[in-house]
Amino acid sequence: MIAADIWLRGGSLVHSGKSIEQKDLLIKDHRILQILDPRDRHLVQAKTMIDLTGRYVMPGLVNTHTHLFQTLFKGLGRDLNLLDWLAASVRPNAPKLTRQDCYYAALLGGMDLAMSGGTTVMDFMYANEHKDSVLGTIDALQDLGLRSVIGRGFIDVTLPDENHNRLVETPEEVLYQVDQLKAYTRAMRRVDIGIAGSVFWAISEEGFEAIRDYANAQDVVVALHASETVDDNEDSIKRFGLRMFPYLEKIGFLKEWLTAVHCVTLDEADMELIASHGVKVSYNPVSNLILGSGIPPMEALRKRGVHIGLGTDGAASNDSQDMLETMKLGALLQKGINEDPTVFSADEVYRMATLGGASCCGLNGQVGLLKEGYLADLMVYNPHRIKSAPVYNPVTSLVYASDANNVEMVLVDGEVIYRDGRFTHVNQEDVLLWIEEIQRKFIVS
Ligand SMILES: [Zn+2]
Repeated sequence: MIAADIWLRGGSLVHSGKSIEQKDLLIKDHRILQILDPRDRHLVQAKTMIDLTGRYVMPGLVNTHTHLFQTLFKGLGRDLNLLDWLAASVRPNAPKLTRQDCYYAALLGGMDLAMSGGTTVMDFMYANEHKDSVLGTIDALQDLGLRSVIGRGFIDVTLPDENHNRLVETPEEVLYQVDQLKAYTRAMRRVDIGIAGSVFWAISEEGFEAIRDYANAQDVVVALHASETVDDNEDSIKRFGLRMFPYLEKIGFLKEWLTAVHCVTLDEADMELIASHGVKVSYNPVSNLILGSGIPPMEALRKRGVHIGLGTDGAASNDSQDMLETMKLGALLQKGINEDPTVFSADEVYRMATLGGASCCGLNGQVGLLKEGYLADLMVYNPHRIKSAPVYNPVTSLVYASDANNVEMVLVDGEVIYRDGRFTHVNQEDVLLWIEEIQRKFIVS
């Protein structure tokens, strides 16, 4: 007999648009135990059987960049450039955030993500005036059931801005907090802690060196907003006499633990440095367009073999956490600027949203494939929906013709966290009521 926890029976397993098999999938102890030939069903003894006849089973999506606390600032500062947007949305409001606010913000954003097929999120939490705010984010993701990497924000440069300066800490303080968070989450199977290096111009040389030394010594991933606008290179040339990526190479900061977020204003030399040092890149097409930052050269990076993951960015510069929208827009932009419809194919962009994301999150070999031994982080796709029908190729339909109605079920770590429009552990009506209460305290200019 084969003893399983969950038996996903009768669906089609989607490995890629060209590789689909009519097989069952068995889950045990959080992982994919076996891909089962239907002829062997008589051998299975499962605690739970879920009939997925007519459905597709696919690896869940990985959101490599967001700021879940910003879910509370959705729509604020719209139609402004990056620095003006910061001044109108995040900067005046982030210092007001409490642990409870961050909890409900992360629940709301996490639910939005899961409903678009998301199973993992790499959060970039830099609103740390109250040291326990990040615990709200962690607790929410733990309660909801998503897998997460929580990047603890790192800001050690003061600026002529009182709200910014309230978030400034010394490198020692931040790394102490990272250690504390690692201890707090040690027993949480689905939560890892990383470092979120805010923006280039908010970190000192000593700060970069402290992050570098910590990441080289410990098993953490590091995310850094990088070349989102020309400001990063201008600041780097002013402070260090080099563009940002050459400077980061010089101090030994370009490593495989680094995910460079955005990468809009790269030149050829920057791209060579990213590729040759194995730096990962997070592509956030919706945010780049909302802030008018530009269209990043992702096809040029992909051609160089760079691991690219997809991200939504925070809701303050996206308005949603929708990974389906991100995949479609991300693919279309690269086709458009390259004047080539063959680039960023549906299979390619789906691979970025799964395996590419896993690579950014330090989860290589753990999530992103329907393979025995991998963690059971899955979505169940229902093709019988107005937006998608008729479905000939589920990956093409997922990328170009789907919305949350197609995502029928989400499993993380071998547990159903969402099914038929309801979350297993969270009451969505309660969350919406809390959000309406919380939103009253924020400044809307
Ligand atoms: Zn961001």
